Amino acid sequence: MDARSTVLGEYRFIDSTLVMLCLVFLAICPSNASAHEIPAQTQTLSTSFQVNSESYGDVENRPVAPTSEPQVRIRLRSKDLESPVTFGETGQQLLCFHEADSRIYLRPAPLEITHVNGAWRLADGDSRTTQLSGSGILSIRTLAGTDSGILFEERRLPGFVDLVPLAPSGDSVRPARLDVIVFVSLESYLPGVLDMELYGHWPFETFQAQAIAARSYALAEAAFWAKRRHFDLIAGPESQGWSGGGGSDKARQAVQGTAGIVLVHDGRVIPAYYSAACGGLPASADDAISSRESHRISPLVPLASRPSGCCEASSVHAWQAEFKRVDLDRALRTWHTERTVDSESRSNLSGSFDAMTVLERSPTGRPLVYGLTTSRGETLRIGSEPFRRLLSKLPRIEKETTSPLRSSVFNGEFRGRRFIIKGLGWGHGCGLCQYGANAWEKRVPPGARFSSGTTQAVRFKPPGESRVSLGHCPSSQRSWNEPSKMDKAASRRPCLPVSQPSH
Ligand SMILES: [Zn+2]
Repeated sequence: MDARSTVLGEYRFIDSTLVMLCLVFLAICPSNASAHEIPAQTQTLSTSFQVNSESYGDVENRPVAPTSEPQVRIRLRSKDLESPVTFGETGQQLLCFHEADSRIYLRPAPLEITHVNGAWRLADGDSRTTQLSGSGILSIRTLAGTDSGILFEERRLPGFVDLVPLAPSGDSVRPARLDVIVFVSLESYLPGVLDMELYGHWPFETFQAQAIAARSYALAEAAFWAKRRHFDLIAGPESQGWSGGGGSDKARQAVQGTAGIVLVHDGRVIPAYYSAACGGLPASADDAISSRESHRISPLVPLASRPSGCCEASSVHAWQAEFKRVDLDRALRTWHTERTVDSESRSNLSGSFDAMTVLERSPTGRPLVYGLTTSRGETLRIGSEPFRRLLSKLPRIEKETTSPLRSSVFNGEFRGRRFIIKGLGWGHGCGLCQYGANAWEKRVPPGARFSSGTTQAVRFKPPGESRVSLGHCPSSQRSWNEPSKMDKAASRRPCLPVSQPSH
């Protein structure tokens, strides 16, 4: 086990190796670390404040843990280009930096900003209108700096804002858009994530586990997108939810209590995905998300070998949906035709579908490929995710509407004129199971502060490994600051297993 501690400027950075798989990095950052000065006039706000991709190392893969608190770029809104947006409140002064002409405008808030006829127009709190000379990025911040926040849509943004006008795509599929990008320090961003991703009454330790996962995910995404687009994360299900505000007391305390801790593997941060409920059958990122380079690591699965150790008792664990058999039959034939250029192969599906089986499973048992068999014995292979999307577009008998299926884990049965599926879990099932974390924390004895949350966040192991060490149980400030020293007491606590038999 290796440990080192490095002091870099005002940031104290500590890392520690956990045997065989996970590392937990602890960075203690001063509370005023996020303050930034307005750059020199020769610089533009949009470029000088962007995430420095070089600091992440090899951005094609997973990033190394940063040695100082980074900023992240959050796309809070993407609106019609000519939609007016209003920032600030009465009594506040706002700075607007127009990149195209390198000019700074100081205007009283509230400030209504509109992009019309290819140029920006500012309508300020003194009922004065300023027409700018053109388009391009418009950066907004308060005169007092980032600490005071900018009021926007009834929330106080903890950073500053870029308005990015986007031309329509060449094929006109995407109309002209206006992206509202918030630049915020990582630790200031996270409380607003926790408030959107968890129920407020869930245990504090679940919030801490979520903070570690969300922080790791944000860092990995920032590294991946640094040179690919003008934002790192989307405030929504495409990335992770974000309230846009400073967060509740509970969320802020959970973030502060885990400040700087991320999950790493082989010295680099993992994109620590999470979903509502794994259904006891966790997925790998390669299967559930995409085949991105950063996902090509050994699949990580929960340490608990029994579904009862995860989200089985939750209200979202099991679900059911019913479809008309005729709708499914038609949709499957259309899907098959669109993906099969060989007309001879298409003609093989002459019977009507009457059975469904699982043809391939992941090492954790999660279905990867389903088979739909006809009355003539012909079998159609379809991936579990494509099948989930196909079914989500069909009218549901019990709801008389279409709606997304909760997961791609289900069994199907043809019964009369109906096709009935019984499913497990909610979401892609990769990484941290939120309902499982909630259930886990409720079983934790009082006084196991933070430790169980950390354990839930890192209780992964590669399939096939017979043992895994989970690291320390920082039950005191001493062990928190010295994470390399395994808390021997942890092995005596039932909530903190240090090894488990393989599946
Ligand atoms: Zn679960």
